[in-house]
Amino acid sequence: MKAFMSMDRRKFLNLSSLGISSFTITGFIPTTAQEIALGSNPMSNINPVVVATWDAGLAANLAAWKVLGNGGKVLDAVENGVKVTEDEINCCVGLSGNPDRDGHVTLDASIMDHEFNCGSVAFLERIKHPISVARRVMEKTPHVMLVGEGAQQFALSEGFSLEPDTLSEDAKKSYEGWLKKSEYKPVINIERKQATSQLDPSLMAPPKLSNGEWNHDTIGMIALDSFGNLSGSCTTSGAGFKMRGRVGDSPIIGAGLYVDNEVGAVVATGQGEDVIRVAGASAVVEQMRQGKSPAEACKFVVERIRRIKKDKAKDIQVCFIALNKKGEAGAFALHKGFNYAVHTKDGNKLFESSSID
Ligand code: ASP
Repeated sequence: MKAFMSMDRRKFLNLSSLGISSFTITGFIPTTAQEIALGSNPMSNINPVVVATWDAGLAANLAAWKVLGNGGKVLDAVENGVKVTEDEINCCVGLSGNPDRDGHVTLDASIMDHEFNCGSVAFLERIKHPISVARRVMEKTPHVMLVGEGAQQFALSEGFSLEPDTLSEDAKKSYEGWLKKSEYKPVINIERKQATSQLDPSLMAPPKLSNGEWNHDTIGMIALDSFGNLSGSCTTSGAGFKMRGRVGDSPIIGAGLYVDNEVGAVVATGQGEDVIRVAGASAVVEQMRQGKSPAEACKFVVERIRRIKKDKAKDIQVCFIALNKKGEAGAFALHKGFNYAVHTKDGNKLFESSSID
């Protein structure tokens, strides 16, 4: 265990060569490319960690780290972090995201703290920061989830402003492209590129790994603060060109997001319907509770989805990121192409997730 906790081990390591993971009486042995040795944190001296989905997670992590690095609370960190992505005009998250098939952007978001407090909003329109509305639901109402018009009314009563019902430039192009065929057929990892490409080939370029560049429509973040507390957040414009009223996994506690402060925190991205059917985030937490590492736990649930979907699994992407109480982070995806950002005291880095294929 001592060796595992050494300074070298605390650096970000690609441990893919280690083979099958195991637990021994000397400690936890990480094993896949996603097992990042961040060191175990004695409660007296805990090193904060932030993990976020996709490359947009790099910018989001920086904002979260500003809170955590100053000894701030993890709930503030995960809210502030994903707000950066909600603000991005070139990102598919938030009001600049792809609309539903009727041309309206509808947003889903959830947040959960270290004491099982949670809040979420779904099918929310014209409000810039759904994650902050979700937090208000958690803190100011007796409920966990508000949807649609009720969620919007609540947001307005809390002082949020009503934004215009318009589409961002990219979303407009994307929607116009989609309207040509009006087929609901998401492409895994890169929904907007497919639709837009029918109009504008320049948008077929691979997503850049720079702050704020989009390649998906969700950001999920999980973090550990120096008090040893975990929290998580998730915010999305959902599946592009979905049916009006469709809600994905992101605002559903236990599916898109789950936090158990005794065990770990998990957030999902990808095909929401298939995350919901296995209560994805909660299922990953339960696997960690039974002793699996974060990456192993993610893999276990992704494999379950693979089995359930059979040959249809090739048409969907599902990814999980997980962080345990010790500050160890991991991820796993159904298909390659998923990446995630991890910020520790040693820096903010992007990792390619392992996947089934
Ligand atoms: N999980 C989100 C949803 O199904 C989409 C995504 O992660 O891109 O709404």
